[in-house]
Amino acid sequence: MIKIIKDDTALWDEIEHCHTLFFSEYVQNWYSAFLAQRTDSHAQFVKDFINPIFNNLCLCNLSDMDIYISDFKNRFKSTFNKNLHKDDTDLKAIKEYLNQIYDYGKFSKNENILSNHSKKEHWNRHTLLSAIPVKICPYCNRTHISSYADEEGKQKTTADCDHFFNKATYPFLALSLYNFIPSCGVCNERFKLAIDFHKARHLYPYDRCFDSAGVSFATRSTDSSLSYLTKFTHDFEIMILNPSDDSEAGNSIKTFRLKELYQSHKCDAIDVIEDSIIYSKSQKKEFQSTGLFSGESEIERYIPSRYVYDSTKNPSRPLRKLINDIFLEVEEYIMISNAVSTS
Ligand SMILES: [Zn+2]
Repeated sequence: MIKIIKDDTALWDEIEHCHTLFFSEYVQNWYSAFLAQRTDSHAQFVKDFINPIFNNLCLCNLSDMDIYISDFKNRFKSTFNKNLHKDDTDLKAIKEYLNQIYDYGKFSKNENILSNHSKKEHWNRHTLLSAIPVKICPYCNRTHISSYADEEGKQKTTADCDHFFNKATYPFLALSLYNFIPSCGVCNERFKLAIDFHKARHLYPYDRCFDSAGVSFATRSTDSSLSYLTKFTHDFEIMILNPSDDSEAGNSIKTFRLKELYQSHKCDAIDVIEDSIIYSKSQKKEFQSTGLFSGESEIERYIPSRYVYDSTKNPSRPLRKLINDIFLEVEEYIMISNAVSTS
């Protein structure tokens, strides 16, 4: 799990601006059309719930989304005097109405331009996901997300649009910008499905990630001395350590089957282990003493599997967290081994 970094303020201002225009030019019309057609008790419930928060739903953050979900549940209980159940006919009728207002299908295929935008841009699922500067799936950190132009020059993306709070359970969040998580198809369609992230809390990529939860990758083998690290065999397991037992991180690891999937990256781990040994701290000092390099950072550039780990930037290559953590693990192993051998 890696964080989605919003370091390009101008870009994010533009994304928010386009999505706000889309809300005011399209979703507002869908809502007005709905209000003009419906006067029944379910429509009244929708109106009472949506009216105070309509504009906020466009750019709301995680804590706001939490508040709206709780408010929806409480209103339903007090209005219909019963708990929410997915097969309840009143709930189904309300969701049906909300789907007409927050119509994700229409947004996905929208070919109309934003009339109040200086560039007269289309704004739909593909253009929005292409604009978000995420190149690697934040849930698994294994798969590239790519944008391209089709035969007609239209912007397309290979990303799935995951709804962090799934749209089947929470249709009023179906078009909220920060409920969209650009992700790979495996994470979205095979593992996430309609799991309710409001009930079972998971790491929310705009706020938290493995780094902030204190989670790290490591290797483990029956060889307790860790000397297997220098044998370059596949006789080890890739572990995901969660020392503070962070429940959100634990749920994310489980839902996206990360421990199981990362076992297929042992070859990548071995590449890192080899490089960590060849370019150990003492080795780097020797390289530096030749006078051929300006400093350690220049030597780092020559390490095949290594690229500078910068948690303040969105990664452009997969497996960044795995590579960094294994590199540090081996570096520590070598340091301890050297200390033992010289004592
Ligand atoms: Zn993924």
